[in-house]
Amino acid sequence: MSVFSDLVFEAGLVARSLGDYFAGGAVRLGVTGLSRSGKTVFLTALVSNLIAGARLPVLAASAEGRITRARLEPQPDDAVPRFGYEDHVASLMGPDRQWPQSTRRISQLRLTIEFETANRWSGRDASLTLDLVDYPGEWLLDLPLLDKTYATWARETLAASETSARAPLAAGWRAALAGLDVHAEANEDRAREIAEKFTAYLRKARENVYALSTLPPGRFLMPGDLEGSPALTFAPIPLGEGDAIVSGTMAAMMERRYEAYKTHVVKPFFRDHFARLDRQIVLVDALTALNSGPAALSDLENALSEVLSAFRAGRASSFASIFRPRIDRILFAATKADHLHHTSHDRLEAILRLLTARAIARAEGVGAEIDVIALAAIRATREAEIRQQGEILKAIIGVPEKGETIGGDVFDGVAEAAVFPGELPADPASIFAGDAIALPEADNDWRFVHFRPPITQRGQPAPHIRLDRALQFLIGDRLA
Ligand code: GDP
Repeated sequence: MSVFSDLVFEAGLVARSLGDYFAGGAVRLGVTGLSRSGKTVFLTALVSNLIAGARLPVLAASAEGRITRARLEPQPDDAVPRFGYEDHVASLMGPDRQWPQSTRRISQLRLTIEFETANRWSGRDASLTLDLVDYPGEWLLDLPLLDKTYATWARETLAASETSARAPLAAGWRAALAGLDVHAEANEDRAREIAEKFTAYLRKARENVYALSTLPPGRFLMPGDLEGSPALTFAPIPLGEGDAIVSGTMAAMMERRYEAYKTHVVKPFFRDHFARLDRQIVLVDALTALNSGPAALSDLENALSEVLSAFRAGRASSFASIFRPRIDRILFAATKADHLHHTSHDRLEAILRLLTARAIARAEGVGAEIDVIALAAIRATREAEIRQQGEILKAIIGVPEKGETIGGDVFDGVAEAAVFPGELPADPASIFAGDAIALPEADNDWRFVHFRPPITQRGQPAPHIRLDRALQFLIGDRLA
């Protein structure tokens, strides 16, 4: 049986490479990033621009008028949920103009792009099958667990919870551990209580607006289909160095569930999904981190470095037997650039370049081309210059969401507001010195203003910033 399936697998590979040779072939593009980084909005905008045949000047195939049409195809993988593209478009463009429901689990969508090859004399029809895979970035943080024993993970996680920043958040969980005899008989109720309090701690640390980087297990924060499942009913408990774990005890039960989580949740994700990606975009909400200050920025830098280690893994590491990533292009993208005036877009890009520099340097030999961009998949604002006390200030104008406040004014979700986003510093390194954004005024509560999606003409995709440049990097060569 296994020989037969190997043969089928080999045959599939040959068919695929012939297909690649004769046409645009197939690309599996992963879209990831931590919760609320903009994955759903990005993917919805990408698809709607291609389907509508929108002009995308930096995407060469579009600029040269070679894209004939793009259409959605039936879902290729029965076991993976479909990305709810139609629902997302309906909420963005419907009468209420709402941002779509964010990513909670892995989902996928297949798009076929018909195009003419770039050769001027022998241009011929070709097509590119683009499989788009949206998944929570939190799941990438589970990779280090694969070569870590339960005892080591428990010790490290307990130690991390003792730092001054984390201790107050971990207090509930630590209290639940008090008096626990880890070598006493396993007790399901107690295990559930400890796991719930541990999950609450991870959530609080995550909600602390980038004050703390995210800790694994990733499914405790983004459970996907495992919501409420026993697979998530484990937690670190204090084990002494060199303690033997005897079967039937609380320690043994926790260890068994931890190992089951690795085998049934983490490994299949890396093997069946991650390892099959050809290209990857990692979305980063750098503006939120910038607004939170230098500590949040260093933390974001660490999180990005962890994410990149997943792409490096497998090439020359202990994970090679489980999966071998084949990603050959990675794009890091700072999202929501429409919250800034365009004069700051390059600066945002420079800041993200600095934040990823260390990780990228460490990833040398990863075998992938890496680039950095600032973009807005959906542009909710426009720009204006406003004269104030003889000075010309650069403003952005949009409709703040209902209930948003600026300087004491409460917005109704209908009225427009002009806000002054200030300028990002010319020297990206200065963000670590604390002066993240040079503000034109002391009152800075505009920074957290959320705008409603823009009004668009029927059938037309929303405006964007640099989405075309992202596409050129991610798939431009396959449309040549
Ligand atoms: P996900 O959790 O990564 O799927 O994040 P979403 O795509 O759902 O984005 C989270 C929120 O960020 C959205 O509800 C919007 O409020 C905001 N957002 C995302 N992309 C953009 C963008 O391009 N422009 C603006 N103005 N807001 C965005």
